[in-house]
Amino acid sequence: MLQLPHQPLQVAAVPTQRTPAREDEAGPWHSEAVCRRDEAGLFFAPSKEPTAARLSREESAKRVCARCPVMIECREHALVQPEPYGVWGGLTAAERRVVLARRRRREMELKAAASADHIAAAG
Ligand code: SF4
Repeated sequence: MLQLPHQPLQVAAVPTQRTPAREDEAGPWHSEAVCRRDEAGLFFAPSKEPTAARLSREESAKRVCARCPVMIECREHALVQPEPYGVWGGLTAAERRVVLARRRRREMELKAAASADHIAAAG
């Protein structure tokens, strides 16, 4: 089974059904992940984490991501899965939701533009 680069803490507020990516979906990037041994527990929130502590922890995790050679691959994995919890590829879960919303909006705009072009070409 694929070992994800960082695993949630036992006490983390992460559902146990969190499904690891299959190796063929995740690709080989995880073997180069800087966070393979997340002893500090930076990447997932412990339960009932105060906001200030969460922000500080997430910034620390992002600093680790910033020096990770597979940040782009990790981020895309987390967006495509999508991974609902934790910091992946330098983005928090909330930041990934924003990126995904922008992508969906952009896709809809492109589809609308393509449809309008098709109608104009047919008319
Ligand atoms: S980008 Fe961050 S979360 Fe992703 S593998 Fe690297 S250190 Fe881990």
